[in-house]
Amino acid sequence: MRLQFAYNLTIEIFLSIFWAGCLGRLFGRICRMDIHSASRNLSSMSKVNPQTQTVEAVVVGAGMAGMTLAHALASAGIEVAVIDRADPGMLQTASHDGRTTAIAAGSARVLRGIGLWDGIGVHACPIETIRVSDNDSLMFLHFDHREAGDDPLGHIIENRLIRQALYHRAESRTNLQLIAPSEIAEIERGESGITVRLENSEVLRARVVFACDGRNSALRKAAGIPVTEWRYDQSSFVCALAHERSHQNIAHERFLPGGPFALLPMTDLAEPVNGLRHQSSVVWSESNDLVPAIRDMDDAGFTEALGRCVGGFLGQIALASPRWVHPLGLSHAIRYTDQRLALVGDAAHAIHPIAGQGLNMGIRDVAALAELVVDARRLGRDIGDPDILSDYERWRRADNMMLTVTTDGLTRLFSNDLAPVRAVRDLGLAAVNAAPPLRKFFMRHAMGVVGDLPRLVRGEAL
Ligand SMILES: Cc1cc2nc3c(=O)[nH]c(=O)nc-3n(C[C@H](O)[C@H](O)[C@H](O)COP(=O)(O)OP(=O)(O)OC[C@H]3O[C@@H](n4cnc5c(N)ncnc54)[C@H](O)[C@@H]3O)c2cc1C
Repeated sequence: MRLQFAYNLTIEIFLSIFWAGCLGRLFGRICRMDIHSASRNLSSMSKVNPQTQTVEAVVVGAGMAGMTLAHALASAGIEVAVIDRADPGMLQTASHDGRTTAIAAGSARVLRGIGLWDGIGVHACPIETIRVSDNDSLMFLHFDHREAGDDPLGHIIENRLIRQALYHRAESRTNLQLIAPSEIAEIERGESGITVRLENSEVLRARVVFACDGRNSALRKAAGIPVTEWRYDQSSFVCALAHERSHQNIAHERFLPGGPFALLPMTDLAEPVNGLRHQSSVVWSESNDLVPAIRDMDDAGFTEALGRCVGGFLGQIALASPRWVHPLGLSHAIRYTDQRLALVGDAAHAIHPIAGQGLNMGIRDVAALAELVVDARRLGRDIGDPDILSDYERWRRADNMMLTVTTDGLTRLFSNDLAPVRAVRDLGLAAVNAAPPLRKFFMRHAMGVVGDLPRLVRGEAL
């Protein structure tokens, strides 16, 4: 597996140079992206006398990364349109994906800096302590936020509530329009700008398009940008759990033989379940050969199996939500940009949720890209200029690669039940736990406040 990873990295580096240097020049002058089948007949649209409007930037994908980017740009006065094929009403319902997100301290600063935290923070439960343990081993790792500063290590929030806040705030920004649900028929990228044609025959013109359309990004595929990718032999069960005793704002990560089991503190339930009002979010990753049996359990059987993973420290437990299963994989785009196009969030990189960092990487992409674009616009430059886009790629690629490699390594190291491997990782946990500078180092990385940070992540204005 390690050899395969090293091999993939080498291929990625080679392909980056190859694609950026050669194909970009060969095909880069005019790029037409038909994001559906090549056989689509668009000529009928031109007969409808399309309504055309001009904005400065188009964001494709109104997920958490896309909407955060749109807000960041709009907060600095940029005219932006966001297009999503899904109905925003559906994306805000509890039944959409059931997931929660651990928003790292650095990401919370970004959201605060662009006026979004008030709407999101009200639903957020602070993580003050993280406890990492290896199945039933006595070795553990304990992170206390006070060792790293005043901020909590992060916050746990339901994805639907983050989306609700993002859409709600958009209503009061006159320079941010959300066009959804709406299918894109075609995107044309040229020397001086881009044109997006929607299936309802509306046309948008802009300087640049940002692809925030998730891990299967149609824009990335249409631009011919390859990805390094593989699937893990694991899926994550996700649900909310009601419990008797308080979680005391502690996040637990327990490494079980089938995969990591995370129990994340949430705000109390408005309506207790079976009289239990305390609540945690569960991300239970299991090997795929066990997934069908666990998925097919009834609620009582599932809760009992969950109870064995949790242990008894929370007292009585009960399911507080439906349950979802998410197959897990890794993908990393060979490059993040093309002519007047930049990939952001999962469209550029998607990772295993073992460290709860996927969206946090996306939010750091947003902070860096918004800073470059806003600075360029203040100087009167074209915001789709290739230099700006390549600065973005240079800025973000190392951090994203480092986290991708780290989470992949951790997943492989901790999803392995061989005795020598267990011994090595338990010693590692104990060693880090015994060394305050190392603990602080890991905590600051988990908080996303290390490295060449954009202004928003440093807590400064955009
Ligand atoms: C089980 C699990 C737990 C996780 N926990 C955490 C965590 O604790 N912390 C963390 O930081 N990350 C976590 N992640 C990762 C995180 O959920 C993702 O990184 C994040 O949701 C990606 O956001 P995004 O906006 O880039 O993409 P998406 O959420 O995939 O959004 C993409 C949007 O684009 C739209 N779209 C797609 N195609 C088109 C198209 N052709 N035209 C128009 N619109 C389109 C979609 O409708 C969607 O709204 C977790 C992931 C999993 C699977």
